[in-house]
Formats: sequence, C-alpha cells, structure tokens
Amino acid sequence: MDLKLSVNNSKTTSINFHDNVKDDYLPSISEAELSDEKVLNELDQLHAELRDQVIVLGHHYQQDDIIRYADVTGDSLALAREAKASTRRYIMFCGVHFMAETADILKRLDQTVILPDLHAGCSMADMANRQYIDQAWSTLEQWTKARVIPVTYINSDAKLKAFVGDHHGVICTSSNAEKIIRWAFAQGEKLLFFPDQHLGRNTCYKMGIPLDQMVVYNPTMWNGGLTPEQVHKAKVILWYGYCSVHQGFTLEHIKRIRAHRPETTVIVHPECCFDVTHNADVAGSTNFIIDYIRKAPAGTSFAVGTEINLVNRLAREFPDKTIFSLSPYQCLCTTMYRIRPRWLLATYRAIKAGSPINIIRVDEDTKRSALVALERMLAIS
Ligand code: SF4
Repeated sequence: MDLKLSVNNSKTTSINFHDNVKDDYLPSISEAELSDEKVLNELDQLHAELRDQVIVLGHHYQQDDIIRYADVTGDSLALAREAKASTRRYIMFCGVHFMAETADILKRLDQTVILPDLHAGCSMADMANRQYIDQAWSTLEQWTKARVIPVTYINSDAKLKAFVGDHHGVICTSSNAEKIIRWAFAQGEKLLFFPDQHLGRNTCYKMGIPLDQMVVYNPTMWNGGLTPEQVHKAKVILWYGYCSVHQGFTLEHIKRIRAHRPETTVIVHPECCFDVTHNADVAGSTNFIIDYIRKAPAGTSFAVGTEINLVNRLAREFPDKTIFSLSPYQCLCTTMYRIRPRWLLATYRAIKAGSPINIIRVDEDTKRSALVALERMLAIS
C-alpha cells in the first residue's frame, strides 16, 4: 500500500471514487466542438428547460460561471440540507466529491446526486481513508484504556463518516466544531480528530485545551510517529491532514498587513494554521466570514484568509468595503475549480437525453452508518 500523502495530486492516496473513475464517465465537450460562449448559451437554455427537474447547488468556492447557475449557494452542509428539502429529481452538486456524498446520504430515495466532474475531490479529505483510520484506531486501542471519541470533519470520505457512526463518534463542520467537541468530551476522555489538524487544534485551543495536550498522528510514520506515553498524556490526537488552500496563508502575510494597512481587519478560516488564526483579528467558518463582512460598517477594510473565488465575490458584493485576499498569491482550490461550465453542460445534456452521468452513490451499509453520525451531529448542533 502506498502511504504517501498528497497535497496537490489527489490520485496519490487510495480513495475509492478516484480508483473507480473511468475516462468514459467523463464526457468532454472540447473547445474545438463548442466555444466558451456557445457552452454558456446552451447551458442557459438547458438550465431554464430542466428547471423543474434539476436543482443546482453551488459551493461558495465555485467560480462565477458556475455560481450564475446555482439555485442555492452555501457551505457543504447547508447545501446537502437544501438538496433534501428540494422536490427536484436531480441534485447537481457543484462542489467536491465528499459534499456530493453527503447529499447522497441525506437525500430522498427518489433523488439522484450528480457531480459534474468526478475528479473534483478534496486534497484534505484524501489525507485520511478507512484503512489508515482503522490502523490508527487499533494502535490507540492497544495503547490507552481511556475512552477515545472519534470526530471527523465533514470534509471526509463517506467511509470515515460511517466509521465514526459505528464507533460512538460524530461529524463536525467548521461552524459547529466547538459544540461538537464539547459533546465529545462529555462522552470520553480523549479525541481522535481527523482529517484537518488545524480545525481540531484551533478549536480545542479556543476551548482552553493547551497545545501540549495535543499530539499529531501522522499515518505515513510508524505508529503515527507517536509513543504510548505521548498518547497517554494527550487529550487530543490530531490527524496529520490539512487544506492546501488555507495552509497557504502565513503569519508573514498578517505581519505585512499590520505594517502597511494597519486599519485592516484580518479575518480567516479555522482551516488556516494555528499561527495565522491565533494572530488574526477574527476566525470563523465560511458562513461566519460572509456574515461578519456583511454586517460590518461601510468603509471597513478586510484581509480575508479563505478561497479566492469567495474573496473576489465578497469584494464585488460589498463595494462599500475594501475586501482583498490576505495572501498576495491566489489561494485557489484547484479541485473546486474543476467544475467548469463544459462539464456542467455535459451532465445537463445527459439528463436531457435520459441517461444521467457522473452519479454519486454511497453504498447502503456505508450510508446507514454515516447517517447515524450525521444525525447525531444535527441533533447536537
Ligand atoms: S478548499 Fe481545501 S478543504 Fe475545501 S475543498 Fe478545497 S482542498 Fe478541500
């Protein structure tokens, strides 16, 4: 088994959906066949024509040419809930794979979830899989008698959601992480938090858990790179996973803002590393960031530490405020960016032809266990 972690190439880790993807599942509408303009024109038509059958969900990090077709925009959980509430037959999920899986777990039986490009994964979600987690769990079982509660960030494969469902654990989002972690500590003495070490560390620290009571389990190392003593002393075992987009923001970026634009509020997502969230003025989930900026008085200046498509959209939506990326580089989620109008058009054409493609189906056993964990989260938050 290849234990290498990958940040930019999500095919490196063993993940079920990528392995199953066949090129003929990914019909391409080439530029030679159709210009960008013609793609958008045909999409306009099909979007209007199939409106009764298809709901288009657009994650905040999608590019504008996709967001223009979205019936609803939001974060992953909000969108999955919208999908379920909709009466439409097809759920076109413009986001990444784990989000479409969550929608498939929550959807009604008569609905079908479609991901326009099956290669739109999430590099962070790919940093943990069922095999790694089973291995880590068995090491922890051998090393500690304490009750360990597994908590997975919603940015994870359905099989990991099923794992926590089967092991008295729970799922969290960046909006409800604090509440969920509090619940988990009421059930046990230690947490195994995966796959995002930063969300786990930032949230636990905010709740008063010192950094020296957190250790990092690295699945590429023997026994995660830990000793039984370290696990014994720790309250939180964090998985060595991270978002390559949010990890792109650094303390240096904040220092530069402080030096050159001291009037600016630095607002960041909790997937950023500890130094960044700790030194920012405010940190919170995507929805928190949007809300915070919306409610700020005109004239406020923000340096935002999150995905660039959202930052640029906020800048356009609130022209009375100054909004720009915390990083001088474009922190773009390249896997979200895989959802392009030509892929959307290909999936629309297939629906119209009566043979939908790029369907996301979570197997029934996984779905049952994952649903336990999702419903547990919804009941707590
Ligand atoms: S922004 Fe980060 S966590 Fe979100 S989908 Fe992209 S890689 Fe995954």
